[in-house]
Amino acid sequence: MTFRPRYTGLIDRYRDRLPVHDDTRIISLGEGNTPLIRLHNIPSLLGKEVDIYVKYEGLNPTGSFKDRGMTMAVTKAVEAGSRAIICASTGNTSAAAAAYAARAGITAFVLIPDGKIAQGKLAQAMMHGSTVLQIQGNFDAGMKLVKEVADHAPVTIVNSINPFRLQGQKTAAFEIIEELGRAPDYHCLPVGNAGNITAHWIGYCEYSSASGDHVTKACAFCEGHCRFAGGAIVGNRPKMVGYQAAGSAPFITGGMVDNPETVATAIRIGHPQSWDYAWQVQKESGGWFDACTDEEILAAQKLLAEKEGVFCEPASATSLAGAMRDVKNGKIPEGSSIVCTLTGHGLKDPDTAIKQSSGPVLKIAAELDEVKRAILDNLA
Ligand SMILES: *Cc1c(COP(=O)(O)O)cnc(C)c1O
Repeated sequence: MTFRPRYTGLIDRYRDRLPVHDDTRIISLGEGNTPLIRLHNIPSLLGKEVDIYVKYEGLNPTGSFKDRGMTMAVTKAVEAGSRAIICASTGNTSAAAAAYAARAGITAFVLIPDGKIAQGKLAQAMMHGSTVLQIQGNFDAGMKLVKEVADHAPVTIVNSINPFRLQGQKTAAFEIIEELGRAPDYHCLPVGNAGNITAHWIGYCEYSSASGDHVTKACAFCEGHCRFAGGAIVGNRPKMVGYQAAGSAPFITGGMVDNPETVATAIRIGHPQSWDYAWQVQKESGGWFDACTDEEILAAQKLLAEKEGVFCEPASATSLAGAMRDVKNGKIPEGSSIVCTLTGHGLKDPDTAIKQSSGPVLKIAAELDEVKRAILDNLA
């Protein structure tokens, strides 16, 4: 019997490709290493020969991909002697900031938009002991305030304008390549600030032949057993495709949006912070941006839950909603391999899920006959 080393998070796993030193104190909750699930039922519903995988980032410690960036940002903040971090957030960044600050023993301040944050995320920020500042304004207003206050108070910003965030988040692309043995043909993501699509592109570029020295070293996690140990380099990079919610779609309208509105609160962002980077990613990769309506987003969320058993939050389903449409209309051709990032867990936003759920809740007496009848009436 051979034992694998205990998984201790993405910084330990990809230490040689991240900006940490041997003696850096790592602040980790075991983030990363999330499942890449091949969809079985949705491709045939589409009537197309495509391989669709979902990268289920909702299974990170605080339930979203933000943990990948936060382990790096908080590790570096602590290394630099910072005692407090601050972020503006549509919810998931604040949940991650609160948890990693708790882990590190430092203070977190989180600015969230009044009333437009999913319940689960608010619960996390409060439970981990961060100071929650609910502002009468949206994410973009919060982001502006955070940038200003960081000049006047001893706090480190941990929004994705913090470059260490993207360094942590690029590791999702490493994991995908290691599992598929190559990069997918298309990588579809929901886009808010556009930090994540940028981070993935950084990761794919580092693993492609352009900078092959990264992959010639054995990785710390597998101690030389993974397929890159021998110095293999992947030759391809995906087309990066970013989908936004129609009411919050600056990359589609071509300019900033002042009053973004969508049920997908995690991407309710009108002034993306990684605007220039993301356009560069689109051009370099040959991908595109497009918008999905709230109806399409919720339909994809439900389809994924009902047909594949995977529960993601509304914003996350935007990647699948867009991919399904572009597979159907042929923009993504048959024979393609597609990865859709599912950025956050469905349990983050139970209210939206229950509101649109069709699964019947039958009220019956606590009697055998009634249960029996309910079963016979509802068998498929
Ligand atoms: C933060 C977030 C996004 C958007 O990511 P960006 O890097 O801002 O583009 C999408 N979905 C979820 C669930 C998020 O928390």
